[in-house]
Amino acid sequence: MKYVEEYRDPQLARQLLDEIHAATTKPWSLMEVCGGQTNTIVRQGIDDVLPVGLRMVHGPGCPVCVTPLEMVDKACAIAVQPGVTFTSYGDMLRVPGSHSDLLSLKARGADVRVVYSPMEAVRIAQREPDRQVVFFAVGFETTAPANAMSVIRARDLGLSNFSILVSHVLVPPAMTSILDDEDCGIDGFLAAGHVCAVMGWREYEPIAARYRVPIVVTGFEPLDLLEGILMAVRQLESGRCEVENQYIRAVRRNGNEHAQEAVASVFQVADRTWRGVGEIPRSGLELAAAFAEFDAARRFAVEGIETRENPACIAGAILRGTRLPTDCPMYGRACTPRMPLGAPMVSSEGTCAAFYNAGRVAEPATAQQTVGSQA
Ligand code: SF4
Repeated sequence: MKYVEEYRDPQLARQLLDEIHAATTKPWSLMEVCGGQTNTIVRQGIDDVLPVGLRMVHGPGCPVCVTPLEMVDKACAIAVQPGVTFTSYGDMLRVPGSHSDLLSLKARGADVRVVYSPMEAVRIAQREPDRQVVFFAVGFETTAPANAMSVIRARDLGLSNFSILVSHVLVPPAMTSILDDEDCGIDGFLAAGHVCAVMGWREYEPIAARYRVPIVVTGFEPLDLLEGILMAVRQLESGRCEVENQYIRAVRRNGNEHAQEAVASVFQVADRTWRGVGEIPRSGLELAAAFAEFDAARRFAVEGIETRENPACIAGAILRGTRLPTDCPMYGRACTPRMPLGAPMVSSEGTCAAFYNAGRVAEPATAQQTVGSQA
């Protein structure tokens, strides 16, 4: 397949791996803040073949996993209201809420539908004017432009039966929150290629300078990740702390300015709770006042929901990169992708699901795997 196979060439992978081994003289910890990268690293076993002491720490990069429990509960509360058609990407349907999940509500008769874009939800609202159509707008900067465009389209069509339940999160504040933690052991980051395709990398430059960490914008294929790791290691070994771009085929420094304008016209920055991590100031997006009428949380008045996390789930520690899924007593036993107890076991981008699907078993941690004890 053109533009995919080239980035999976085994000979080039071996060459890059040899260069990583040659370049690494000290122990380093690199965090990827992207579920797609986590999936590739774990599925391809990249973390298993790195030099001893060069650790990949899997950060809060899965959009499904970081959507706060309160939002999942609000989605469930809206979905069961009469006359509501609740639409969402498929992964969100199986995320456990405090009392239920969207898929279970659908099985019990709620009108919950999987869509492949927010525009599909707008078209449902056009076709079915007697239904109140709600789209679950979750994710990082990557999905925000399409969600913004859906609201603009609904306004232009004069639709009064379309709204979105917003739970957008922003990557840079999460990175600074991780770096501000006094127990943080992260030496460098692989920044998410798709987020940077939208946002560019200018906003990472002050982070690299202030915290003195290299940040390498990196793609998702095995060769992308190996090259991103090599670039980060070379910076660390030479004492540089810069933003570099490995993903040159998709990312420019300024990003996609049209997409940024769409987001800025519809959303405003707000404090946001990250599931398992807690509230991070100015780390999310909410609808701007001019578009408040499209806010499903206001339209359906679902405030004051009491949430209840499963006490057995250690997803918070996994999302902060201080524990591994195999440290969780539920992993592969009471919690599997078929029967997830926590959000990281739901999506293929979740660290627990990535570990499970790669066949990783809960064994005594090796030096490579012992994240929590060193972080
Ligand atoms: S294995 Fe399941 S219960 Fe354990 S942390 Fe992951 S999602 Fe939570």
